[in-house]
Amino acid sequence: MNNTSAPTPSAPAANDKSNDPLAIHQRAIVIDMHADTTQRLLDENADLAQRLKDGHFDSVRAREGGLDAQFFSIWVEPELFGGGGPQAMKRADDQIAAVHELAEKHPETWQFATTASDIRRIVAAGKLAALTGLEGGYAIDEKLENIERYYKLGVRYMSPAWSVSTSWAGSSGDAVGAKRGLNDFGKQVVREMNRLGMMVDVSHVSDPTFWDIVNTSTKPVIATHSGCRALANVPRNLTDDMIKALAKTGGVVNVIFYPEHLEPGWNEKKKKLDAEIAPRVQRASEEEKGDGAHKKMARDAVRREEYAKLLPPVTVSRLVDHIDHVVKLVGIDHAGIGSDFDGVQSTLSDLADVSQLPNLTRELLRRGYSESDVDKILGGNMLRVMEEVQK
Ligand SMILES: [Zn+2]
Repeated sequence: MNNTSAPTPSAPAANDKSNDPLAIHQRAIVIDMHADTTQRLLDENADLAQRLKDGHFDSVRAREGGLDAQFFSIWVEPELFGGGGPQAMKRADDQIAAVHELAEKHPETWQFATTASDIRRIVAAGKLAALTGLEGGYAIDEKLENIERYYKLGVRYMSPAWSVSTSWAGSSGDAVGAKRGLNDFGKQVVREMNRLGMMVDVSHVSDPTFWDIVNTSTKPVIATHSGCRALANVPRNLTDDMIKALAKTGGVVNVIFYPEHLEPGWNEKKKKLDAEIAPRVQRASEEEKGDGAHKKMARDAVRREEYAKLLPPVTVSRLVDHIDHVVKLVGIDHAGIGSDFDGVQSTLSDLADVSQLPNLTRELLRRGYSESDVDKILGGNMLRVMEEVQK
């Protein structure tokens, strides 16, 4: 329909047989397991068909980056929309509708997908696959039947909790989560997800919840956007024992691109800076006259600017350190990628948006990974898990 769906002139075609890193990248099916662009669709009415001046993601840059499938995060912020109830459900429903609408409005670029074979078919047709996953189980409103409701709307993964614990699952982001695993209802949720064929995501859950999930699930378990705690000691990351247990289920650790979860010491520097800029962040929030979601956008804009100026740059090499760590620990079949684009206020300096994804492939190849290894990391492993969970 327009030039947004055309491949960039510099990009080699997918059938280019050369060993050029860009050709290898273009041949691979690239699946990003987590981006928060969904909220931009909803709160900013962002038009992804255009190259957006800000943020990390749009269709034009996704094409340039050789992306093939995007899991759009359906994120219900519990403090703004509630940890359950009609408001939380509405927030989730509106985001899911926005992803369906993206595909309906731009059929020349996007198709809504729910399965691995959907992704393969859509990619073969030269288009991008749009998928959805729930970030935090708030929208199921503590009702088992709502899991099937979201499954029918197309949702194919769910993490039980984001940064705020639910009554049935602990989060790594609050004090109560440290002691809270899955209660009986939480275990029923995991079994229901197994039954339906919805992947269970352990990103953001607390350690006890992680272990309860792994011990309850009969299907492969995934982390959609996490790093390794052995390299960057933040509670959001997975310990070596967790990575081993997750791999035993047949699952995949999709490594996040966010410096805070990748670079040792970065989190402490960020916290110090957060304290210094708190008055400016607060002022930006007060001056914004819109709703809670818009106030959050105003606060994040200040953070983005200050982090870029004052925090040390981190490169894609550090991301590959985490991928290496997973591969050395449990093998090539259990590593993947989950950018968290548009959900973070800071990015890697040379993977600052979706268009720069080939830099990841370049670094993997430089470190000696073969093309078949790269294929697995970029999306092949997740295609396998999707097929397995769907059985
Ligand atoms: Zn997240």
